Amino acid sequence: MSAARQSAGLAGLQQESRAGPRYPGLGLITLILTATGILSCLRHFVYRQPQSALEMAAAMTACTVFFYPWIALTPLVFRLEQRFPLGSQRWLRNALVLALLSIPVSVLAAPVMSALYWAVMAAADIGVPYLKPKVFWLGHFFSAQVLFWCSVAGGYTVRTRHLLITAPAQGYAHLGMNGGLVGGRYDGLNQHGLFVSLHKVMADRPLSHAPGVPYHLLPRLALQTCRTATEAADLMSHLPHLASFNYLLADASGQMIALECYPGRKPERRESDEVLAVTNHYTSPMLAPLQGARPKHDSQRRMAALESIHDRWGDGWYATFDALADHDSGVCSHREFGATLWAGVFDLGAKRAGYTFGAPCRNEVINYQLAMSNEQ
Ligand SMILES: [Zn+2]
Repeated sequence: MSAARQSAGLAGLQQESRAGPRYPGLGLITLILTATGILSCLRHFVYRQPQSALEMAAAMTACTVFFYPWIALTPLVFRLEQRFPLGSQRWLRNALVLALLSIPVSVLAAPVMSALYWAVMAAADIGVPYLKPKVFWLGHFFSAQVLFWCSVAGGYTVRTRHLLITAPAQGYAHLGMNGGLVGGRYDGLNQHGLFVSLHKVMADRPLSHAPGVPYHLLPRLALQTCRTATEAADLMSHLPHLASFNYLLADASGQMIALECYPGRKPERRESDEVLAVTNHYTSPMLAPLQGARPKHDSQRRMAALESIHDRWGDGWYATFDALADHDSGVCSHREFGATLWAGVFDLGAKRAGYTFGAPCRNEVINYQLAMSNEQ
């Protein structure tokens, strides 16, 4: 699902059949808030032993339900952070907007938190601590603020969790998307302006399996050890593959190589110096039969749309993002039962990457600059 254009840099896109950034569900949020409540209660008992088991149980429950308004508020804050993302070029403006929004949220949350605490203690009838009106209405404003900003930090971490910026002790520095598999990269750009991405191809399983390199480690190896598309193609052509994948390799000189790989076969190679689109099917007549009767139409349609980037006018960077966000061609497949997890455009000469976290049609582009290397 990628296209490259010499003047435009290069586009990458990852799609999966699940919804956008995968935020924690209500169950996990409840679990985290419960643990927070229990720990905050135990803190009090360090200084003062509870008089009875009832007092301990009541205090524990009261401290826990105190946090429960955030079962509803945390997902709301995740959405606010997604709408006003931190880490973007407008981070200062967005942080100010979030700070402003945090005030009404905290003003509303604080008395609900106080009321829940008070209600449990009153129900246990063990001498309800008197809450002065000032404490009741605003006494827990600060606690609400802490929870608001913890939720913002959590949302930011979840939203951007696939992006890793790596400066290894040995090998080249790179940034790219991890995709959730330990050690690997789904796409990335290194300090020499080499771009690598992977693209799953559904194909028949090989009759036998020989040892090989897992698919997600191949882009990482190339990013960390290669400077050009040719070097990366040589490396990936010599390593044994375990799965059916396409790889797109491109470098700052404008060279672009597509490798179509299948276990036990020599990778098939496609090149262009203008536009090269790679999606999720084999174009090589040698490998295409291995896909059997599986539908290829959507993948072919996306490939044709990406190849047409060549015909677009205007700034290549924005033309490429427009093509990525296009729903008519299905390149952005954010719809029911389908989601686009992220999209990226890369200017290899400038060593600049622009990612959207979530579908490119409705998420802000966040730019990253890799430090320039000393050319050797
Ligand atoms: Zn979309």
